[in-house]
Amino acid sequence: MNVLVDLGHTRRLRSPDREVLTLARTLAGSDTVTVLSHAPEPGDLAADLGGYRVATLFAPREEAPDLSRTDTALLDAALAESGANLVLGANDADTTEWFARLAVRHGAAVITDAVGVAEDRTVTKSVLAGGYTTTVVPTTDLAFITLAPNSVTTEDVDDGAAPEVTPLSVSVSGAAATVTGTTAAPASSRPKLTEAKAVVVGGRGVNGNFALVEELADELGAAVGASRAAVDAGWVEHAAQVGQTGVTVSPQLYLCAGVSGAIQHRAGMQTAQTIVAINKDENAQIFEIADFGVVGDLTKVIPQLIEALRERKGSSDPA
Ligand SMILES: Cc1cc2nc3c(=O)[nH]c(=O)nc-3n(C[C@H](O)[C@H](O)[C@H](O)COP(=O)(O)OP(=O)(O)OC[C@H]3O[C@@H](n4cnc5c(N)ncnc54)[C@H](O)[C@@H]3O)c2cc1C
Repeated sequence: MNVLVDLGHTRRLRSPDREVLTLARTLAGSDTVTVLSHAPEPGDLAADLGGYRVATLFAPREEAPDLSRTDTALLDAALAESGANLVLGANDADTTEWFARLAVRHGAAVITDAVGVAEDRTVTKSVLAGGYTTTVVPTTDLAFITLAPNSVTTEDVDDGAAPEVTPLSVSVSGAAATVTGTTAAPASSRPKLTEAKAVVVGGRGVNGNFALVEELADELGAAVGASRAAVDAGWVEHAAQVGQTGVTVSPQLYLCAGVSGAIQHRAGMQTAQTIVAINKDENAQIFEIADFGVVGDLTKVIPQLIEALRERKGSSDPA
């Protein structure tokens, strides 16, 4: 299969990119993979791609002024150059928009939020808050597919040869709108909530002491999330809300404290691989779906957990 991977504007591989590349390498079989970066001079990216059987790395010749239209034009150019019949990317807002635009332009299938793609292009999706697994097969020769984070186990790669960087020139005229300014979101050392392998979530039971949740998250290298009750109380920003009216996460570890497990909350987290709940009420709904449960006061349990994690790290650190 001739696979093109769109890595967006990143200059270093993130965890979702490695998942997409692992999948691309499997689907490509004996063929090579082509990668598109939207970042001019993508720096260390070429070296990062060694081992993923990537033959060509396309990158724009120069910085582009007009965001979405230039991005779409770049992807179109890479598609034409590579002759790919399958385009893969991470399931983020930008990639989904570019794929949708190009799918319309080419009369091709677009499938978002896949959790797996088989060699015959059968796509697996988890829908209705993880209540159903569906399979979808593109009926067109060309298909665009975005992959949900934490869907593919990434494999260690050999130190393969870095691909050649091939500059692409695109010109976009007659823009209907231009971007006059952008403000980067405040940088955080924590992983992104929707992409994190581990997420620690606080609910109303945290009673305003979110520092405890954050401390545990940092100990685990996890992202911080919250129930709506915690967000409504103003303890944490809305971007951290997990659930029906917040974000959907599917990490390897979901650890929540002081969360009752209301259906609207579960809608955003029940596909997590391992669910750990701390709640002082042994009848809390969250225990119905938890793999491990601790019945106890979170103000006592979390500090002990942090202590145990630190001890464990300390004993594994070389003297
Ligand atoms: C249309 C709609 C959309 C919604 N969307 C969302 C959404 O996206 N996300 C979301 O989360 N909710 C959402 N909700 C709200 C949802 O119904 C619940 O009200 C909410 O999830 C409850 O949050 P909570 O579990 O933190 O609080 P509670 O339900 O009040 O639970 C708090 C829990 O903390 C425990 N607890 C208290 N003190 C301690 C302690 N010291 N130690 C240990 N445990 C303790 C209690 O036993 C209790 O189980 C939505 C509701 C509606 C109607």
